[in-house]
This record gives sequence, C-alpha cells and structure tokens, in this order.
Amino acid sequence: MEEKAPVSGEGVSEVPKNAPAWLKRLSVVVPLYNEEENIEELHRRLADVLPSTGVDYEIIYVDDGSTDGTAELLEGLALSDSHVVALSLRRNFGQTAAFAAGFDFARGDVIVTMDGDLQNDPADIPRLLACIDRYDLVSGWRRKRKDPFFSRRLPSMVANWLISKVTGVRLHDYGCSLKAYRREVIKNLNLYGEMHRFIPAVASWYGVRVAEVETTHHRRHRGSSKYGISRTIKVVLDLITVKFLQSFSTKPIQFFGLLGLGAGSAGFLISLYLTLRKLLFGEEIGSRPLLLLGILLIIVGIQLIGMGLISEMLVRVYHESQRKPIYVIKEILGQKEK
Ligand code: UDP
Ligand code: MG
Repeated sequence: MEEKAPVSGEGVSEVPKNAPAWLKRLSVVVPLYNEEENIEELHRRLADVLPSTGVDYEIIYVDDGSTDGTAELLEGLALSDSHVVALSLRRNFGQTAAFAAGFDFARGDVIVTMDGDLQNDPADIPRLLACIDRYDLVSGWRRKRKDPFFSRRLPSMVANWLISKVTGVRLHDYGCSLKAYRREVIKNLNLYGEMHRFIPAVASWYGVRVAEVETTHHRRHRGSSKYGISRTIKVVLDLITVKFLQSFSTKPIQFFGLLGLGAGSAGFLISLYLTLRKLLFGEEIGSRPLLLLGILLIIVGIQLIGMGLISEMLVRVYHESQRKPIYVIKEILGQKEK
C-alpha cells in the first residue's frame, strides 16, 4: 500500500485509443438527484460518445429520490432508448447509495461512474477505457476544476492531502466521480456512508492497480450542487473509518489493546507513586487531582482492552458467519479436478 499509484497522464498518449478487446460490455452508472435540467443533454452526449467505443453498452440512471421531474424524464429515456436502465430509489439515500444500487444492476465487464450534472464530460470515457486494459481502476483527475475556491476547492485540497497521507494511496483527486472499474473491483466492495470517494483506497486493500487520468471538468450550468461545506466533516469521519478498517479490521485488539495498555500502565504508575507517598511519607493524597487521573486512566485502559476483545469476537462473527476470507485470490493455476 506504500506503493505510489501511477500518476495522471502517465503513458496515456501511448495507450491505444480503443477499448481493450476483452471488454465486451460496458455499464455507465449515473446518480441523479433533482437533475431534470441536465438529463436530456447528458443523455444526448452519452449516446453520442458511447457507440464510438465499439462496445456494447448500457446506461444505468439511478434516480436518488428526486422530487422534480427527473423520474418522468428517465421513464421517457428508458422507453425510447434500449440501452437505458432507469432505477428509482424510494427516497433520497445519497450519492454513495445511488452508486451502490447502480453497481448491483450493472452487467458490464467494466463499470464507469460519473455525475449527472454534466460537470464530468462523457467525452473522457474512451480515454478511461483505453487505460483499463493495464489497470483495474482508472480514476479521473479534475486538474482544472471549475468549482468555487473557498467552499469547494480548498476543502477538497485539504481532504485530498489528508486521504493520500492516511490511506497511502496517492491520487490527486479522490472526489472525481468519473472513474472506470473492472467488474471484479466493484463486486468485491461494500459501500457505506459517503464512502464512494474512498473506493480507490478501499480497493487498494484488495491489491488492485489504480491509475489516474486527467479529465475535463465543467462549471455546473444548470441545477444546483447538493453539497456544502459540511461535507468536509463527514469526509474526515469516513477517513477515520477507512483507515481503521484498512489497518486493523482483522486485528482490532492491536489497536484498542495498545491504547488500553498505554492508558492502563500510566494509570498504574501514577497510582503506585501516590500509594508509595501515602505509605512511606504519610502524605494526604485524597485531595490530589493526580489521584483522579490515575483512576481514570486505569478504568479507560480496562475499557479499551475490553473493547478490543469484543471487536475481536465481532471480526470472527463477521468473517466466519459469512465465510468471508481475510485474503483475496487473484487467480488459481493448475487446479486439479476434485
Ligand atoms: N446526487 C445524488 N444523490 C444525492 C446528492 C447528489 O444522486 O443525495 C448526485 C447528483 O445528482 C449529481 C452527483 O450526485 O449527479 C454529484 O452531485 P453534485 O453535483 O451536487 O456534487 P458536486 O459536484 O457539487 O460535488
Ligand atoms: Mg456537481
């Protein structure tokens, strides 16, 4: 995981313009929440670009509980274009859930995700596909991003820096929705919360090869952004989750236990010191704040170790009940008939 992901543009010029030969079917997943003003143009542009890839394709529009005319427009598209699959969620579940729904229905060998507000450009899709031959996940990099600086780009810069430091997966732009995945990558993932921006980091745990390619980004011309500055906090919390799961999901006691032992030992030493002063010098220790600290640290230490042990049991329940291995196999060679 320390390995650097290949950086944008690297080798893109020498990559063949066409999609790889093994790619027989492509799924494009687009989440839509109140995007009635964008859908028709989006579909026109997708329907222009996708046939040129020479690959059989489907476009999965996921209506994430829109309250405007999005659902009706999608119904029209599904009727008029046989490449369209329109999913309607019962209420607004959020962009990550919308992606997850799209993934569940996607039948392609490669799955491309993008925003439905035309900030991503469908014309970039063929370039992502050309790169997927050598990588498992190709992520867009909005190098010249057209979003407001203070409310969006600045928090994003901080978030990108943090995510790259913490997860060890080096990308410039984690938030870009325009990405291409091989089918295996998606089918191995479970998404929660606002996790879609962490897919490259989570996927790196599975040992997938990640590349980043520069993509065009446009200003939002119609409709409004669904997010504000509050997203930054959510990203930080999700980041903590991802980091924890990445490092300790199969050995939680090593995280909680270490903290617990540290706190417990400090508490023990403090209490020992106070006890000795009391016993040897007859000092009054009942009113000392240090006594409280010592007791607190001992209790916290015990709690943390207990939490670690409970987590260890949870890990076993999780893996054993679902028969989930703690490893991922790439391929098996020379397997004998049973
Ligand atoms: N979106 C969604 N559900 C939500 C919020 C957003 O499906 O709860 C979709 C939205 O319609 C758009 C994409 O996710 O296609 C990105 O949203 P937006 O453009 O608001 O995000 P930004 O580009 O401002 O980060
Ligand atoms: Mg947008």
